[in-house]
Amino acid sequence: MSQFNLKDKVAVITGGAGIICSSLSKSLALHGVKTVIIDINKEAAVKVALAIEKETGSQSIGLQASVLDKKSMEAARQAIHAKFGPVDILVNGAGGNSPAATTKIEKMEGTPDEHPEDTFFGLQTEGFDKVFDLNFKGTLIPTMVLAADMVEKKSGVIINISSMNSYRPLTKIPAYSAAKAAINNFTQWLAVHFAKTGIRVNAIAPGFLLTNQNRFLMIDESTGGLTPRGKKILNGTPMERFCTPEELSGTLLYLVSDLSQFVTGVIIPVDGGFSAYSGI
Ligand code: NAD
Repeated sequence: MSQFNLKDKVAVITGGAGIICSSLSKSLALHGVKTVIIDINKEAAVKVALAIEKETGSQSIGLQASVLDKKSMEAARQAIHAKFGPVDILVNGAGGNSPAATTKIEKMEGTPDEHPEDTFFGLQTEGFDKVFDLNFKGTLIPTMVLAADMVEKKSGVIINISSMNSYRPLTKIPAYSAAKAAINNFTQWLAVHFAKTGIRVNAIAPGFLLTNQNRFLMIDESTGGLTPRGKKILNGTPMERFCTPEELSGTLLYLVSDLSQFVTGVIIPVDGGFSAYSGI
């Protein structure tokens, strides 16, 4: 615990009821951090907070708020102040893809009128809105609301959650790839903007995990085995396996603690070598 020196810090984790962020929240709580689980799903947020308190002994609360609704984030801020005081750490974890912004095929052949629904021409602009909003504005809005606490305290840490597709886009998911590339860019921009305020801003780019948002792309529902895309991902990952949520926690603890006190504006891949591998 002493190595990270995080005891009694207050951390807000958006999307905190999800697979990755419930695990990240627990790892913070294990180091004495008071955690605020913010999720659009109230029941799930409360359940995660109760489990964290039971398993770690650190205080945790679950709050319903939408990262896309500034008023609900402001109401959450009031509730956090009443319970724990000002925020020290913000993990912007809410995010994800949508089937409406996903092509059915990887590479187009033929003319646009042949199976347009399977290609770029079949994408729905509403799907792009949804994915850009959730991933980009869903990071922007909580940061606008909660970084004010950090400016007042002259210290704080913001962690954004990026993805492998932010460096080079993955086939089929143009909106999600572009939105995560925007997260990297915004991480750097904000790190510079806040550099003299005592706030550091960094991001973690996880490799491939099996979660609710991507299961439909990785696992064949009828057989339960890997899809051709799932197999390609493992072939492209030198360690030849999926990442687990627990494997992100070391990088998170490093980035939120003073061990990284001169580190700001970086995006750290935790990817089993995926981003380093040319495939050959
Ligand atoms: P998840 O779907 O398990 O969790 C996302 C959580 O966000 C859910 O609990 C959901 O209820 C919540 N949420 C959705 N909309 C919200 C809103 N408007 N306001 C508040 N909460 C909202 O997803 P996950 O796989 O754990 O992903 C977490 C983060 O990691 C996302 O940013 C995702 O893009 C990123 N990521 C995931 C992977 C992966 O392989 N799963 C890889 C790289 C990056």
